[in-house]
Amino acid sequence: MASKKNIIVEPSAEIREMLVEMGAADAYKCYQCGKCASVCPWFQVGTYEFLVFRFPLETVLGLIASSEEKEELAKEVDKIYRCVGCEACVDQCPLGVNMPHILRSARRILVDFGSYPEPLKSVVQKVRNVGNPLGEAREKRADWAREMNINEFESNMELLYFPCCVPAYDARIQKVAIATAFLLQRSGVAFGILGSKESCCGEAIRRAGAETVYQEVAMSNISCFQAAGVKRVLVSSPHCYVTFKKEYPELGASFDAVHATQYFWQLIQKGKIRPSRSFKKKVVYHDPCTLGRQSGIYEEPRNILKSIPDLDLLEVEDFSRNLSLCCGAGSGGLWIDWPKGERMADIRIKQLMDTGADIIAVACPYCLQMFEETVKEMNLDVAVMDVSEILYESVCVDKDPAHEQ
Ligand code: SF4
Ligand code: SF4
Repeated sequence: MASKKNIIVEPSAEIREMLVEMGAADAYKCYQCGKCASVCPWFQVGTYEFLVFRFPLETVLGLIASSEEKEELAKEVDKIYRCVGCEACVDQCPLGVNMPHILRSARRILVDFGSYPEPLKSVVQKVRNVGNPLGEAREKRADWAREMNINEFESNMELLYFPCCVPAYDARIQKVAIATAFLLQRSGVAFGILGSKESCCGEAIRRAGAETVYQEVAMSNISCFQAAGVKRVLVSSPHCYVTFKKEYPELGASFDAVHATQYFWQLIQKGKIRPSRSFKKKVVYHDPCTLGRQSGIYEEPRNILKSIPDLDLLEVEDFSRNLSLCCGAGSGGLWIDWPKGERMADIRIKQLMDTGADIIAVACPYCLQMFEETVKEMNLDVAVMDVSEILYESVCVDKDPAHEQ
């Protein structure tokens, strides 16, 4: 193991081996064509030079975080944490190089030595201490459901509903959890929640490099779900979706995961949910990177929106589906306050608003939070809603009082 001094001094075979061991083997595939830099959202932002194609070469040389100077090291850390894990580069790389994995390996070394951004240190601590990145009390995790008469999950139920930490605690985004649960109740699905027994899925902290804490919370959730007899988890967040579906099995989990948009589209097709109320608005759908590019779920959210009477669905020309521009919240970006003029959400909101939409529809709590903050800060006349909230508006003619708060 390199000493604290060694990780920041010079090209090193030892560091290269550590990086490769932590998942950076794709660095050897790269032939420096530079395409990744041209599709990276930082290229669209335009005010920050992010020469992402250099990372594979720096990895092969063991040059990551190679400065001895404190200020220079801080710049390198800033650079390594600019990646928001959107995977636009993975999608377009001729050789399929997984750049976020290369960068995550560098982050794991930085986390091991405590050299990573302060806001992310705080998030990792909160997840470890209370099971969520907001630092809220564990016993309040099911407060959003207080007025809704939702049962605790039991093994004979079809679904566990796992709302994600942001909808569980954030006052605005709790409405997504309420709308989702209300739609499930309306359709007669047997589901329950685990509230204070569950923890953050750990996706964001894993992508920030905090592998040990990720494994702690993941194992805690896996034990909890297995003890409760969970076979299928319904999630509001694509980040929980990929983690439960693709990453928990590495740790022995055997339950399945389904995203709310997939499940609600199935219920509409079966006639168990009937969007009947007119929703006469122009709505543009923003493909969240983790739901679209990373999970291939493009049609279900659009099909739900198309099934709603009078809703006019718009698309962002040139930047939708696999070419959607990231909101900037992934891989810890939600908690990093980049300077004004360097924020992806500002660029994405402009693209979305240029369609003439009244409403921006999302299917991810992180996108919702980023866009809500951006719309408020820029004082824009547009609403941001989750697809489940729009569906709720169309299904629930007699609205639930909890959602009206
Ligand atoms: S697009 Fe792929 S091969 Fe080209 S520089 Fe980027 S990582 Fe390397
Ligand atoms: S994952 Fe996205 S943000 Fe990260 S380097 Fe690739 S394109 Fe850029």
